[in-house]
Amino acid sequence: MTHVGMVIVGAGEAGARAAIELRTRGWDGPVTIIGREARAPYERPPLSKACLLTEEKPTPAWILDEGKLADYKIELISGVPVTEIDRNSRSVMLANGRKIQYERLLLATGAYPRKLSLEGSGVSHVFYLRTFTDALALRSQLHPGKHVAVIGGGFIGLEVAASAMKRGCSVTLIEVGPRILMRGVPEEIAHIVEARHQDAGVTFKLGVGISCIEATDGGQVIELADGTSIECDTVVAGIGAIPETSLAEQAGLAVENGIRVNEMLQTSDPNIFAAGDCCFFPHPLYGGKRIRLEAWRNAQDQGMCAARNMLDSSESYAAVPWFWSDQYDLMLQVAGLPDQGEQTIVRSSGDINKLFFHLSADHKLVAVSGIGTSAIAKDIRIAEMLIEKQTVVLDTTILETPEVKLKSLLKTLV
Ligand code: FAD
Ligand code: NAP
Repeated sequence: MTHVGMVIVGAGEAGARAAIELRTRGWDGPVTIIGREARAPYERPPLSKACLLTEEKPTPAWILDEGKLADYKIELISGVPVTEIDRNSRSVMLANGRKIQYERLLLATGAYPRKLSLEGSGVSHVFYLRTFTDALALRSQLHPGKHVAVIGGGFIGLEVAASAMKRGCSVTLIEVGPRILMRGVPEEIAHIVEARHQDAGVTFKLGVGISCIEATDGGQVIELADGTSIECDTVVAGIGAIPETSLAEQAGLAVENGIRVNEMLQTSDPNIFAAGDCCFFPHPLYGGKRIRLEAWRNAQDQGMCAARNMLDSSESYAAVPWFWSDQYDLMLQVAGLPDQGEQTIVRSSGDINKLFFHLSADHKLVAVSGIGTSAIAKDIRIAEMLIEKQTVVLDTTILETPEVKLKSLLKTLV
Protein backbone atom coordinates (compact mmCIF):
# COMPACT_ATOMS: atom_id res chain seq x y z
CA MET A 1 0.00 0.00 0.00
CA THR A 2 1.40 3.39 -0.90
CA HIS A 3 -1.42 5.90 -0.56
CA VAL A 4 -4.77 6.60 0.99
CA GLY A 5 -6.55 9.45 -0.72
CA MET A 6 -8.72 10.32 -3.72
CA VAL A 7 -8.07 8.03 -6.68
CA ILE A 8 -9.26 8.70 -10.23
CA VAL A 9 -9.23 6.00 -12.92
CA GLY A 10 -9.00 7.58 -16.38
CA ALA A 11 -6.70 10.48 -17.27
CA GLY A 12 -9.11 12.12 -19.72
CA GLU A 13 -11.36 15.17 -19.59
CA ALA A 14 -13.54 14.12 -16.66
CA GLY A 15 -10.67 12.66 -14.63
CA ALA A 16 -8.42 15.69 -15.04
CA ARG A 17 -11.18 18.20 -14.26
CA ALA A 18 -12.14 16.20 -11.17
CA ALA A 19 -8.55 16.23 -9.88
CA ILE A 20 -8.28 20.00 -10.36
CA GLU A 21 -11.64 20.54 -8.64
CA LEU A 22 -10.58 18.46 -5.62
CA ARG A 23 -7.64 20.83 -5.12
CA THR A 24 -9.70 23.94 -5.88
CA ARG A 25 -12.18 22.87 -3.19
CA GLY A 26 -9.39 22.53 -0.64
CA TRP A 27 -8.75 18.77 -0.47
CA ASP A 28 -5.13 18.55 0.70
CA GLY A 29 -4.74 14.76 0.89
CA PRO A 30 -3.26 12.70 -1.96
CA VAL A 31 -4.89 12.90 -5.41
CA THR A 32 -3.83 10.18 -7.85
CA ILE A 33 -4.91 9.85 -11.48
CA ILE A 34 -4.23 6.55 -13.21
CA GLY A 35 -4.41 6.51 -17.03
CA ARG A 36 -4.03 3.77 -19.59
CA GLU A 37 -2.57 6.14 -22.21
CA ALA A 38 1.11 6.98 -21.79
CA ARG A 39 0.43 10.73 -21.78
CA ALA A 40 -0.73 13.48 -19.47
CA PRO A 41 -4.43 14.39 -19.86
CA TYR A 42 -5.19 16.23 -23.12
CA GLU A 43 -8.20 17.54 -25.03
CA ARG A 44 -9.85 15.19 -27.56
CA PRO A 45 -11.93 17.68 -29.64
CA PRO A 46 -8.87 18.97 -31.61
CA LEU A 47 -8.04 15.38 -32.71
CA SER A 48 -10.54 15.45 -35.59
CA LYS A 49 -9.98 19.13 -36.39
CA ALA A 50 -6.78 21.16 -35.69
CA CYS A 51 -4.64 18.07 -35.19
CA LEU A 52 -5.43 16.72 -38.67
CA LEU A 53 -5.20 20.16 -40.28
CA THR A 54 -2.10 21.76 -38.85
CA GLU A 55 0.90 22.05 -41.15
CA GLU A 56 3.24 21.77 -38.17
CA LYS A 57 3.87 18.61 -36.17
CA PRO A 58 0.81 18.39 -33.89
CA THR A 59 1.18 18.43 -30.12
CA PRO A 60 -1.57 17.46 -27.68
CA ALA A 61 -3.60 20.30 -26.16
CA TRP A 62 -2.72 19.48 -22.56
CA ILE A 63 -5.33 19.80 -19.81
CA LEU A 64 -2.75 19.02 -17.13
CA ASP A 65 0.88 19.26 -18.21
CA GLU A 66 3.83 18.47 -15.95
CA GLY A 67 3.90 21.99 -14.55
CA LYS A 68 0.21 22.00 -13.63
CA LEU A 69 0.41 18.49 -12.16
CA ALA A 70 3.22 19.72 -9.89
CA ASP A 71 1.43 22.97 -9.00
CA TYR A 72 -1.73 21.09 -8.03
CA LYS A 73 0.25 18.29 -6.35
CA ILE A 74 -1.55 15.67 -8.42
CA GLU A 75 0.20 12.34 -8.93
CA LEU A 76 -0.26 10.98 -12.45
CA ILE A 77 0.45 7.31 -13.12
CA SER A 78 0.27 7.04 -16.90
CA GLY A 79 0.63 4.17 -19.35
CA VAL A 80 -0.79 1.64 -16.88
CA PRO A 81 -4.40 0.45 -16.80
CA VAL A 82 -6.24 -0.35 -13.61
CA THR A 83 -7.20 -4.01 -13.85
CA GLU A 84 -9.27 -4.56 -10.72
CA ILE A 85 -11.17 -2.81 -7.95
CA ASP A 86 -11.30 -4.47 -4.53
CA ARG A 87 -14.23 -2.79 -2.81
CA ASN A 88 -13.64 -4.57 0.49
CA SER A 89 -10.13 -3.21 0.95
CA ARG A 90 -11.01 -0.02 -0.98
CA SER A 91 -8.10 -0.41 -3.34
CA VAL A 92 -7.35 -0.60 -7.04
CA MET A 93 -4.91 -2.99 -8.69
CA LEU A 94 -2.75 -1.78 -11.58
CA ALA A 95 -1.47 -3.91 -14.47
CA ASN A 96 2.08 -3.48 -13.13
CA GLY A 97 1.09 -5.16 -9.86
CA ARG A 98 0.89 -1.96 -7.82
CA LYS A 99 -2.02 -1.64 -5.40
CA ILE A 100 -3.36 1.77 -4.40
CA GLN A 101 -5.83 2.35 -1.63
CA TYR A 102 -8.60 4.93 -1.94
CA GLU A 103 -10.84 6.84 0.35
CA ARG A 104 -13.13 7.74 -2.55
CA LEU A 105 -12.75 6.49 -6.12
CA LEU A 106 -13.84 8.14 -9.38
CA LEU A 107 -14.33 6.06 -12.52
CA ALA A 108 -13.73 8.38 -15.50
CA THR A 109 -12.94 5.66 -17.98
CA GLY A 110 -14.57 7.24 -21.05
CA ALA A 111 -15.51 5.22 -24.12
CA TYR A 112 -13.80 3.41 -26.96
CA PRO A 113 -14.63 3.22 -30.69
CA ARG A 114 -17.12 0.60 -31.87
CA LYS A 115 -15.29 -1.63 -34.34
CA LEU A 116 -16.66 -2.80 -37.69
CA SER A 117 -17.71 -6.41 -37.63
CA LEU A 118 -17.09 -7.28 -41.26
CA GLU A 119 -15.33 -9.88 -43.35
CA GLY A 120 -12.33 -9.12 -45.51
CA SER A 121 -8.57 -8.75 -45.57
CA GLY A 122 -8.84 -4.94 -45.47
CA VAL A 123 -10.76 -4.73 -42.17
CA SER A 124 -7.62 -4.76 -40.03
CA HIS A 125 -6.30 -1.69 -41.90
CA VAL A 126 -9.27 0.49 -40.96
CA PHE A 127 -8.42 3.63 -38.92
CA TYR A 128 -10.40 4.71 -35.83
CA LEU A 129 -10.06 7.98 -33.93
CA ARG A 130 -10.11 8.34 -30.18
CA THR A 131 -6.57 9.08 -29.00
CA PHE A 132 -3.74 11.40 -29.96
CA THR A 133 -1.85 8.34 -31.25
CA ASP A 134 -4.84 7.50 -33.50
CA ALA A 135 -4.86 11.10 -34.78
CA LEU A 136 -1.15 10.98 -35.68
CA ALA A 137 -1.66 7.71 -37.56
CA LEU A 138 -4.65 9.04 -39.48
CA ARG A 139 -2.95 12.37 -40.21
CA SER A 140 -0.06 10.53 -41.86
CA GLN A 141 -2.55 9.22 -44.46
CA LEU A 142 -4.09 12.56 -45.43
CA HIS A 143 -2.08 13.70 -48.43
CA PRO A 144 -3.32 15.66 -51.45
CA GLY A 145 -4.82 13.40 -54.10
CA LYS A 146 -5.49 10.48 -51.75
CA HIS A 147 -8.97 8.98 -51.70
CA VAL A 148 -10.33 8.56 -48.18
CA ALA A 149 -13.46 6.48 -47.51
CA VAL A 150 -15.22 7.47 -44.31
CA ILE A 151 -17.64 4.97 -42.75
CA GLY A 152 -20.28 6.57 -40.51
CA GLY A 153 -22.12 9.86 -40.87
CA GLY A 154 -21.80 10.87 -37.21
CA PHE A 155 -19.51 13.49 -35.71
CA ILE A 156 -16.20 11.68 -36.17
CA GLY A 157 -17.03 10.81 -39.78
CA LEU A 158 -18.12 14.33 -40.74
CA GLU A 159 -15.33 16.17 -38.94
CA VAL A 160 -12.71 13.82 -40.43
CA ALA A 161 -14.30 14.24 -43.89
CA ALA A 162 -14.05 18.05 -43.58
CA SER A 163 -10.43 17.86 -42.42
CA ALA A 164 -9.46 15.39 -45.15
CA MET A 165 -11.02 17.62 -47.84
CA LYS A 166 -9.11 20.60 -46.47
CA ARG A 167 -5.91 18.52 -46.69
CA GLY A 168 -6.53 18.02 -50.42
CA CYS A 169 -7.90 14.47 -50.30
CA SER A 170 -11.05 13.29 -52.05
CA VAL A 171 -13.65 11.78 -49.72
CA THR A 172 -16.53 9.31 -50.01
CA LEU A 173 -18.72 9.07 -46.91
CA ILE A 174 -20.78 5.91 -46.44
CA GLU A 175 -23.69 5.90 -43.99
CA VAL A 176 -26.01 2.95 -43.50
CA GLY A 177 -28.87 5.18 -42.24
CA PRO A 178 -31.10 7.18 -44.61
CA ARG A 179 -29.36 10.43 -43.62
CA ILE A 180 -26.35 11.70 -41.70
CA LEU A 181 -26.55 12.72 -38.02
CA MET A 182 -29.63 10.59 -37.35
CA ARG A 183 -29.43 11.01 -33.60
CA GLY A 184 -29.98 14.29 -31.78
CA VAL A 185 -29.97 16.66 -34.76
CA PRO A 186 -33.07 17.81 -36.69
CA GLU A 187 -33.30 16.65 -40.28
CA GLU A 188 -33.04 20.20 -41.64
CA ILE A 189 -29.68 20.70 -39.92
CA ALA A 190 -28.44 17.38 -41.28
CA HIS A 191 -29.37 18.55 -44.80
CA ILE A 192 -27.49 21.85 -44.34
CA VAL A 193 -24.41 19.96 -43.13
CA GLU A 194 -24.64 17.47 -46.00
CA ALA A 195 -25.00 20.28 -48.56
CA ARG A 196 -21.92 22.04 -47.14
CA HIS A 197 -19.92 18.81 -47.51
CA GLN A 198 -21.21 18.34 -51.05
CA ASP A 199 -20.13 21.90 -51.92
CA ALA A 200 -16.68 20.97 -50.68
CA GLY A 201 -16.70 17.91 -52.96
CA VAL A 202 -17.58 15.03 -50.60
CA THR A 203 -19.49 12.15 -52.24
CA PHE A 204 -22.21 10.58 -50.08
CA LYS A 205 -23.43 7.00 -50.16
CA LEU A 206 -26.47 6.99 -47.85
CA GLY A 207 -28.75 4.13 -46.87
CA VAL A 208 -26.36 1.43 -47.97
CA GLY A 209 -24.54 -1.18 -45.90
CA ILE A 210 -21.08 -2.62 -46.43
CA SER A 211 -20.53 -6.27 -47.38
CA CYS A 212 -16.76 -6.48 -46.95
CA ILE A 213 -13.47 -4.60 -47.17
CA GLU A 214 -10.63 -6.21 -49.09
CA ALA A 215 -7.00 -5.07 -49.08
CA THR A 216 -5.50 -4.17 -52.46
CA ASP A 217 -1.99 -3.11 -53.47
CA GLY A 218 -1.54 0.00 -51.33
CA GLY A 219 -5.21 0.49 -50.53
CA GLN A 220 -8.60 -1.09 -49.99
CA VAL A 221 -11.77 -1.82 -51.87
CA ILE A 222 -15.10 -1.52 -50.06
CA GLU A 223 -17.86 -3.76 -51.41
CA LEU A 224 -21.28 -2.23 -50.75
CA ALA A 225 -24.53 -4.14 -50.26
CA ASP A 226 -26.00 -2.54 -53.42
CA GLY A 227 -23.36 -4.33 -55.53
CA THR A 228 -21.17 -1.27 -56.14
CA SER A 229 -17.64 -0.88 -54.78
CA ILE A 230 -15.35 1.95 -53.73
CA GLU A 231 -11.60 1.89 -54.23
CA CYS A 232 -9.65 4.04 -51.80
CA ASP A 233 -6.27 4.62 -50.19
CA THR A 234 -7.52 4.87 -46.60
CA VAL A 235 -10.63 3.80 -44.70
CA VAL A 236 -11.67 5.58 -41.47
CA ALA A 237 -14.62 4.41 -39.40
CA GLY A 238 -16.61 6.53 -36.92
CA ILE A 239 -19.50 4.24 -36.05
CA GLY A 240 -20.07 5.18 -32.45
CA ALA A 241 -18.45 4.85 -29.05
CA ILE A 242 -18.97 2.13 -26.41
CA PRO A 243 -18.76 3.13 -22.73
CA GLU A 244 -15.74 1.61 -20.93
CA THR A 245 -17.46 -0.24 -18.09
CA SER A 246 -15.34 -3.36 -17.69
CA LEU A 247 -13.80 -2.35 -14.34
CA ALA A 248 -17.19 -1.40 -12.93
CA GLU A 249 -18.63 -4.74 -14.05
CA GLN A 250 -15.73 -6.66 -12.53
CA ALA A 251 -16.33 -4.82 -9.24
CA GLY A 252 -20.02 -5.78 -9.28
CA LEU A 253 -21.27 -2.19 -9.69
CA ALA A 254 -24.60 -1.61 -11.45
CA VAL A 255 -24.02 -1.18 -15.19
CA GLU A 256 -26.56 -0.60 -17.96
CA ASN A 257 -25.83 1.75 -20.87
CA GLY A 258 -22.78 2.90 -18.90
CA ILE A 259 -22.00 2.91 -15.18
CA ARG A 260 -25.26 3.51 -13.36
CA VAL A 261 -25.12 6.40 -10.87
CA ASN A 262 -27.61 8.39 -8.80
CA GLU A 263 -28.21 12.12 -9.21
CA MET A 264 -25.03 12.79 -7.19
CA LEU A 265 -23.00 10.66 -9.64
CA GLN A 266 -22.51 8.00 -6.98
CA THR A 267 -22.46 4.39 -8.20
CA SER A 268 -24.15 1.51 -6.40
CA ASP A 269 -21.12 1.68 -4.01
CA PRO A 270 -21.31 5.03 -2.14
CA ASN A 271 -17.51 5.38 -2.12
CA ILE A 272 -17.26 5.09 -5.90
CA PHE A 273 -18.38 7.79 -8.35
CA ALA A 274 -18.50 7.92 -12.15
CA ALA A 275 -18.33 10.82 -14.63
CA GLY A 276 -18.06 11.54 -18.34
CA ASP A 277 -18.68 9.31 -21.36
CA CYS A 278 -18.89 6.16 -19.18
CA CYS A 279 -21.62 7.51 -16.89
CA PHE A 280 -25.34 6.62 -17.10
CA PHE A 281 -27.17 9.17 -15.00
CA PRO A 282 -30.70 10.45 -14.24
CA HIS A 283 -31.32 13.99 -15.49
CA PRO A 284 -33.62 16.08 -13.28
CA LEU A 285 -34.52 18.48 -16.14
CA TYR A 286 -36.00 15.54 -18.08
CA GLY A 287 -38.06 13.93 -15.33
CA GLY A 288 -35.17 11.80 -14.10
CA LYS A 289 -34.76 10.07 -17.48
CA ARG A 290 -31.45 8.21 -17.55
CA ILE A 291 -29.02 9.29 -20.23
CA ARG A 292 -25.39 8.92 -21.18
CA LEU A 293 -23.70 11.83 -22.93
CA GLU A 294 -20.59 11.73 -25.08
CA ALA A 295 -19.66 15.40 -25.02
CA TRP A 296 -16.74 17.49 -23.85
CA ARG A 297 -18.57 19.91 -21.58
CA ASN A 298 -20.52 17.15 -19.88
CA ALA A 299 -17.24 15.36 -19.09
CA GLN A 300 -15.87 18.56 -17.55
CA ASP A 301 -18.98 19.45 -15.57
CA GLN A 302 -19.59 15.91 -14.33
CA GLY A 303 -15.93 15.47 -13.36
CA MET A 304 -16.11 18.62 -11.26
CA CYS A 305 -19.49 17.76 -9.75
CA ALA A 306 -18.31 14.24 -8.85
CA ALA A 307 -15.23 15.73 -7.18
CA ARG A 308 -17.36 18.00 -5.02
CA ASN A 309 -19.56 15.05 -4.07
CA MET A 310 -16.47 12.98 -3.24
CA LEU A 311 -15.93 15.75 -0.68
CA ASP A 312 -19.48 15.18 0.64
CA SER A 313 -21.21 18.14 -0.97
CA SER A 314 -24.36 16.13 -2.00
CA GLU A 315 -24.94 18.12 -5.20
CA SER A 316 -27.36 16.94 -7.90
CA TYR A 317 -25.94 17.01 -11.41
CA ALA A 318 -28.38 19.02 -13.53
CA ALA A 319 -26.29 20.82 -16.19
CA VAL A 320 -28.05 21.35 -19.52
CA PRO A 321 -26.47 18.95 -22.07
CA TRP A 322 -24.46 20.90 -24.68
CA PHE A 323 -22.11 20.10 -27.52
CA TRP A 324 -20.68 21.67 -30.62
CA SER A 325 -19.15 20.54 -33.89
CA ASP A 326 -17.03 22.52 -36.36
CA GLN A 327 -17.01 21.50 -40.02
CA TYR A 328 -15.45 23.90 -42.58
CA ASP A 329 -16.90 27.33 -41.76
CA LEU A 330 -20.04 25.80 -40.22
CA MET A 331 -20.67 25.67 -36.50
CA LEU A 332 -23.28 23.34 -35.04
CA GLN A 333 -24.40 23.61 -31.43
CA VAL A 334 -27.06 21.70 -29.54
CA ALA A 335 -28.23 22.41 -25.99
CA GLY A 336 -30.72 20.14 -24.22
CA LEU A 337 -32.21 16.93 -25.61
CA PRO A 338 -33.96 17.50 -28.98
CA ASP A 339 -35.48 14.00 -28.92
CA GLN A 340 -37.56 15.07 -25.90
CA GLY A 341 -39.36 17.65 -28.04
CA GLU A 342 -42.76 17.19 -29.70
CA GLN A 343 -42.83 20.46 -31.63
CA THR A 344 -40.05 22.36 -33.41
CA ILE A 345 -40.10 26.12 -33.98
CA VAL A 346 -37.60 27.50 -36.50
CA ARG A 347 -35.99 30.94 -36.22
CA SER A 348 -34.29 32.04 -39.41
CA SER A 349 -33.09 35.52 -40.22
CA GLY A 350 -32.62 34.73 -43.90
CA ASP A 351 -28.85 34.37 -43.60
CA ILE A 352 -26.95 31.16 -42.94
CA ASN A 353 -27.80 31.13 -39.21
CA LYS A 354 -30.77 29.03 -38.10
CA LEU A 355 -32.08 28.03 -34.70
CA PHE A 356 -34.50 25.17 -33.99
CA PHE A 357 -36.36 25.31 -30.68
CA HIS A 358 -37.72 22.01 -29.40
CA LEU A 359 -40.80 22.18 -27.16
CA SER A 360 -42.34 19.36 -25.14
CA ALA A 361 -46.03 18.49 -25.33
CA ASP A 362 -46.61 20.84 -22.38
CA HIS A 363 -44.77 23.70 -24.21
CA LYS A 364 -41.59 23.51 -22.14
CA LEU A 365 -38.39 24.44 -23.97
CA VAL A 366 -36.40 21.19 -23.83
CA ALA A 367 -33.68 21.83 -26.42
CA VAL A 368 -32.29 24.16 -29.04
CA SER A 369 -30.21 23.24 -32.09
CA GLY A 370 -28.34 25.84 -34.10
CA ILE A 371 -26.37 25.86 -37.32
CA GLY A 372 -24.44 28.63 -39.02
CA THR A 373 -21.56 30.84 -37.94
CA SER A 374 -20.18 31.30 -34.44
CA ALA A 375 -22.81 34.08 -34.11
CA ILE A 376 -25.35 31.38 -33.08
CA ALA A 377 -23.46 30.84 -29.81
CA LYS A 378 -25.00 33.85 -28.05
CA ASP A 379 -28.62 32.80 -28.69
CA ILE A 380 -27.83 29.18 -27.83
CA ARG A 381 -26.42 30.38 -24.50
CA ILE A 382 -29.61 32.31 -23.74
CA ALA A 383 -31.76 29.34 -24.81
CA GLU A 384 -29.69 27.16 -22.51
CA MET A 385 -30.66 29.37 -19.57
CA LEU A 386 -34.30 29.11 -20.63
CA ILE A 387 -34.01 25.31 -20.76
CA GLU A 388 -32.39 25.30 -17.33
CA LYS A 389 -35.33 27.29 -15.96
CA GLN A 390 -37.77 24.91 -17.68
CA THR A 391 -39.41 27.85 -19.45
CA VAL A 392 -42.90 27.32 -20.81
CA VAL A 393 -43.37 29.12 -24.14
CA LEU A 394 -47.02 29.54 -25.08
CA ASP A 395 -46.50 32.32 -27.62
CA THR A 396 -44.14 30.68 -30.11
CA THR A 397 -43.91 33.85 -32.27
CA ILE A 398 -41.32 35.04 -29.74
CA LEU A 399 -39.14 32.12 -30.80
CA GLU A 400 -39.71 32.29 -34.53
CA THR A 401 -39.38 36.07 -34.99
CA PRO A 402 -35.69 37.00 -35.27
CA GLU A 403 -36.43 40.63 -34.44
CA VAL A 404 -37.65 39.58 -30.96
CA LYS A 405 -34.68 39.20 -28.66
CA LEU A 406 -34.56 35.89 -26.78
CA LYS A 407 -33.40 37.86 -23.79
CA SER A 408 -36.93 39.23 -23.48
CA LEU A 409 -38.08 35.73 -22.49
CA LEU A 410 -35.40 35.58 -19.82
CA LYS A 411 -36.59 38.88 -18.39
CA THR A 412 -40.12 37.55 -17.95
CA LEU A 413 -38.70 34.89 -15.66
CA VAL A 414 -36.93 37.26 -13.27
P1 FAD B 1 -11.97 10.20 -22.18
O1 FAD B 1 -11.54 11.56 -22.56
O2 FAD B 1 -12.09 9.16 -23.22
O3 FAD B 1 -10.95 9.68 -21.05
C1 FAD B 1 -11.02 8.40 -20.49
C2 FAD B 1 -9.62 7.90 -20.24
O4 FAD B 1 -9.70 6.77 -19.38
C3 FAD B 1 -8.89 7.43 -21.50
O5 FAD B 1 -7.64 8.06 -21.61
C4 FAD B 1 -8.74 5.91 -21.28
O6 FAD B 1 -7.57 5.39 -21.83
C5 FAD B 1 -8.71 5.84 -19.76
N1 FAD B 1 -9.07 4.52 -19.21
C6 FAD B 1 -10.11 3.73 -19.54
N2 FAD B 1 -10.10 2.60 -18.81
C7 FAD B 1 -9.01 2.68 -18.00
C8 FAD B 1 -8.45 1.81 -17.02
N3 FAD B 1 -9.00 0.62 -16.71
N4 FAD B 1 -7.32 2.20 -16.38
C9 FAD B 1 -6.75 3.40 -16.66
N5 FAD B 1 -7.24 4.26 -17.58
C10 FAD B 1 -8.36 3.91 -18.24
N6 FAD B 1 -17.24 16.67 -27.80
C11 FAD B 1 -17.80 17.88 -28.06
O7 FAD B 1 -18.69 18.30 -27.31
N7 FAD B 1 -17.41 18.61 -29.14
C12 FAD B 1 -16.44 18.19 -29.98
O8 FAD B 1 -16.13 18.88 -30.96
C13 FAD B 1 -15.84 16.93 -29.75
N8 FAD B 1 -14.91 16.46 -30.58
C14 FAD B 1 -14.37 15.22 -30.36
C15 FAD B 1 -13.45 14.72 -31.27
C16 FAD B 1 -12.93 13.45 -31.09
C17 FAD B 1 -11.95 12.91 -32.10
C18 FAD B 1 -13.32 12.66 -30.00
C19 FAD B 1 -12.77 11.28 -29.82
C20 FAD B 1 -14.23 13.15 -29.08
C21 FAD B 1 -14.77 14.44 -29.26
N9 FAD B 1 -15.72 14.97 -28.38
C22 FAD B 1 -16.27 16.20 -28.61
C23 FAD B 1 -16.16 14.19 -27.22
C24 FAD B 1 -15.34 14.52 -25.96
O9 FAD B 1 -13.98 14.63 -26.27
C25 FAD B 1 -15.57 13.39 -24.96
O10 FAD B 1 -16.93 13.42 -24.61
C26 FAD B 1 -14.69 13.53 -23.72
O11 FAD B 1 -13.34 13.42 -24.05
C27 FAD B 1 -15.06 12.46 -22.70
O12 FAD B 1 -14.22 12.58 -21.59
P2 FAD B 1 -14.05 11.37 -20.58
O13 FAD B 1 -13.07 11.84 -19.55
O14 FAD B 1 -15.35 10.85 -20.15
O15 FAD B 1 -13.37 10.22 -21.44
P1 NAP C 1 -21.70 8.87 -33.49
O1 NAP C 1 -21.78 10.36 -33.57
O2 NAP C 1 -22.54 8.14 -32.52
O3 NAP C 1 -22.00 8.37 -34.97
C1 NAP C 1 -21.85 7.04 -35.34
C2 NAP C 1 -22.41 6.86 -36.77
O4 NAP C 1 -22.19 5.54 -37.21
C3 NAP C 1 -23.88 7.10 -36.83
O5 NAP C 1 -24.20 7.69 -38.05
C4 NAP C 1 -24.46 5.71 -36.69
O6 NAP C 1 -25.74 5.57 -37.25
C5 NAP C 1 -23.47 4.91 -37.46
N1 NAP C 1 -23.40 3.52 -36.99
C6 NAP C 1 -23.69 3.05 -35.75
N2 NAP C 1 -23.48 1.72 -35.67
C7 NAP C 1 -23.03 1.33 -36.89
C8 NAP C 1 -22.64 0.09 -37.44
N3 NAP C 1 -22.64 -1.03 -36.70
N4 NAP C 1 -22.23 0.06 -38.73
C9 NAP C 1 -22.20 1.20 -39.48
N5 NAP C 1 -22.57 2.41 -38.99
C10 NAP C 1 -22.98 2.48 -37.73
O7 NAP C 1 -20.23 8.38 -33.17
P2 NAP C 1 -18.83 8.78 -33.83
O8 NAP C 1 -19.02 9.77 -34.91
O9 NAP C 1 -18.14 7.50 -34.12
O10 NAP C 1 -18.11 9.48 -32.64
C11 NAP C 1 -17.52 8.72 -31.59
C12 NAP C 1 -17.36 9.54 -30.36
O11 NAP C 1 -16.65 10.75 -30.57
C13 NAP C 1 -18.69 9.94 -29.79
O12 NAP C 1 -18.53 9.86 -28.40
C14 NAP C 1 -18.83 11.35 -30.24
O13 NAP C 1 -19.68 12.10 -29.38
C15 NAP C 1 -17.43 11.84 -30.14
N6 NAP C 1 -17.20 12.99 -31.02
C16 NAP C 1 -17.92 14.10 -30.82
C17 NAP C 1 -17.76 15.18 -31.65
C18 NAP C 1 -18.60 16.38 -31.43
O14 NAP C 1 -19.44 16.39 -30.53
N7 NAP C 1 -18.38 17.41 -32.23
C19 NAP C 1 -16.85 15.14 -32.68
C20 NAP C 1 -16.13 13.97 -32.88
C21 NAP C 1 -16.33 12.91 -32.03
P3 NAP C 1 -27.05 5.67 -36.29
O15 NAP C 1 -27.10 7.07 -35.77
O16 NAP C 1 -28.14 5.35 -37.25
O17 NAP C 1 -26.85 4.67 -35.19
